[in-house]
Amino acid sequence: MSCLFCNIAQKKIPATVVYEDEDVVAFKDLNPQAPTHILVIPKKHISTLNDLQPADAELIGKVILTAKNIAGENGHAEGGYRLVLNCNKDAGQTVFHIHCHLLGGRAMHWPPG
Ligand code: AMP
Ligand code: ZN
Repeated sequence: MSCLFCNIAQKKIPATVVYEDEDVVAFKDLNPQAPTHILVIPKKHISTLNDLQPADAELIGKVILTAKNIAGENGHAEGGYRLVLNCNKDAGQTVFHIHCHLLGGRAMHWPPG
């Protein structure tokens, strides 16, 4: 199985990594939709949110906490930011390794497109 984000996590494909630990990697989105657009992924391959298991609770929590920390480091804590996790076709998921988008640095609209 070839997975783009597994390859980024394993450094087989280059990315601008802004944070990494034993469980998660965060890197800049190639096609940014906001001044700050970072993707946070678990190193473990999980295709979609539908595949999350109770045993992944701590891991997915760590993904969110990492996004929160990076948002703060980029100065977005007070002004605000958005975290997005797309699941499957209707949400527009294009890479099937779960990832949390951190978007910040501009006003967001609601409802999203
Ligand atoms: P999604 O539509 O939620 O599956 O988001 C996938 C995201 O991955 C998009 O925002 C893409 O711009 C981004 N992306 C695709 N390939 C790469 C890459 N090689 N490095 C960084 N971001 C990427
Ligand atoms: Zn993967």
